[in-house]
Amino acid sequence: MSRHIRGRGVPEHRWRRWALRTPIPRLRLPPVDRVLVVAPHPDDEVLPIGGLLRRLSRAGVPVTVLALTDGEAAYGPAHAGDLGPRRVEESRRGLVRLLGPDVEVVRLGLPDGALDRHVPAIARAVAAHAAPRQLYLTPHERDGHPDHEAAARGTALGSRPGCRTIRYPVWLWHWCRPGRGGVDWARARVVRLADDERAGKAAAIAEHASQLAAPAGHAPILPPHVLERFLRDREVVFA
Ligand SMILES: [Zn+2]
Repeated sequence: MSRHIRGRGVPEHRWRRWALRTPIPRLRLPPVDRVLVVAPHPDDEVLPIGGLLRRLSRAGVPVTVLALTDGEAAYGPAHAGDLGPRRVEESRRGLVRLLGPDVEVVRLGLPDGALDRHVPAIARAVAAHAAPRQLYLTPHERDGHPDHEAAARGTALGSRPGCRTIRYPVWLWHWCRPGRGGVDWARARVVRLADDERAGKAAAIAEHASQLAAPAGHAPILPPHVLERFLRDREVVFA
């Protein structure tokens, strides 16, 4: 099945209908001492797992975000110079809203759109941040965006043996037919969000203004029909 991301993608009502007849088990986490979030672009740390991160952080688990790119290529090379710094700042403000000021962010500054050529560098950075009883949060390996799939490969190569990895979907909701697509749906787990977790996540997403509205001549990366996938009352991850 093609994992290309184009058009409007699978409408949200189809996922909602699928969820009604497909109960997904609740996510159960082992005891963890640290969380390392591997985020290919600014906003990947929030859209799919913002609620889960807020829950872990409120439970006292330190969160480190390994930010692979500055997301400078979202609207093509003409905007890259301004967009990178702007998105870094959006991500910083969003994370403060979501988790407070103590969140650690490590920026690698790898090229947006070319992570498939930098998998060894991702693996080295992941390995450099290894800690006992660490939980890795990384994109699903079939997410459909080449940068996301490269991030998943780098995490798999660099993660500490014996530590748990949870994979998050972002663009999978766009291209994948519900319950199909060669995706390991049997490993899907749901996180039902409390009101505070939803509110914190929504506030963090709102900081990503460059993705919610586009420069002239471009379509925004996060139009309403994409955004609604990330404003659900639950998050689905693969454990
Ligand atoms: Zn991304």
